[in-house]
Amino acid sequence: MISIPITIHSDEKGYFDRECPNEECLYSFKILMKDWEEKVSDDEVHCPLCGHVDTADKWWTQDQLEKIREIEVNWAMNFIQGTLDKSFRELERSTRHNKYIQIKYKPGCRVTFVNNPIGQREEWETEICCEKCGTHYSVIGSAYFCPCCGYNSAVNAFVDSLDSIRKMLESLSDMKSMLTEKYNVDSAESMCRNLLESSIGDMVSAFQKFASCKFEELSGKTSRVNDFQIIEKGSNLFEQETGKKYSDFLSESELNFMQLLFQRRHILEHNNGIVDQQYLNKSGDTSYTLGQRIIVKEMDAYNLLDILTKLGHELMKLPN
Ligand SMILES: [Zn+2]
Ligand SMILES: [Zn+2]
Repeated sequence: MISIPITIHSDEKGYFDRECPNEECLYSFKILMKDWEEKVSDDEVHCPLCGHVDTADKWWTQDQLEKIREIEVNWAMNFIQGTLDKSFRELERSTRHNKYIQIKYKPGCRVTFVNNPIGQREEWETEICCEKCGTHYSVIGSAYFCPCCGYNSAVNAFVDSLDSIRKMLESLSDMKSMLTEKYNVDSAESMCRNLLESSIGDMVSAFQKFASCKFEELSGKTSRVNDFQIIEKGSNLFEQETGKKYSDFLSESELNFMQLLFQRRHILEHNNGIVDQQYLNKSGDTSYTLGQRIIVKEMDAYNLLDILTKLGHELMKLPN
């Protein structure tokens, strides 16, 4: 077996490109070269996006693989040429005094072998340092797992989700004019209405997931994500562990609004937004009658976002 020396260089910030080997994912990310060498185990690397776990030799990017192949081919060509040169020269020597056959060999154009360092793409913006193991990595967009220890930061995921929901809300009017141009005003209107409605569900799931992780971290007890769908239940769980309940952080009207929007989300997701008797009983909402459809206003979405951001930040501060 021949081993070909390949030198890999980090980018200017010291990061090294990696790509998830899971065919469904192929997410690319960067990890600090020093951490890759010193912290990451040979047996277990975690994909920041999908959480796929694989051995450390599987994470080459398409770019790196292409360059490695190039280097291998050059190396092999060079090796073969060298061997050919040697045997032709021997043949030339051995035929020098042969009067019937004489072989002359002029070495052709040599393939030069340059072991190019495998360069990196330009530096990325989001740098993350794992709360658990201190590994530094860098991603575009969202990431959920530390590549080294697989730790899933509930706080990061929550902050990240709320941030992208806010950006989506802020770009709704731009999207509407873009979609109007591409399709027509009716389609644009209903697509944007869908986005706005689904933002409520996205906020509620982001909060539920975060609250349940935070609760588990500080109590050491398991919980169900659904426990945090019912506001009173979630608030009680936190109160039992820490003495703090949601109403310590939110005003009565904020809490009522959160309650109302959680109920509306339920009806949007499970009854296509059509008001049923159970909704009317549970929410006490007097602005709708049976059989009407729930309307989500942009203002409602922003309000809920602000309330969940506020509550989330207070819950984050509760000591584990
Ligand atoms: Zn992945
Ligand atoms: Zn980690």
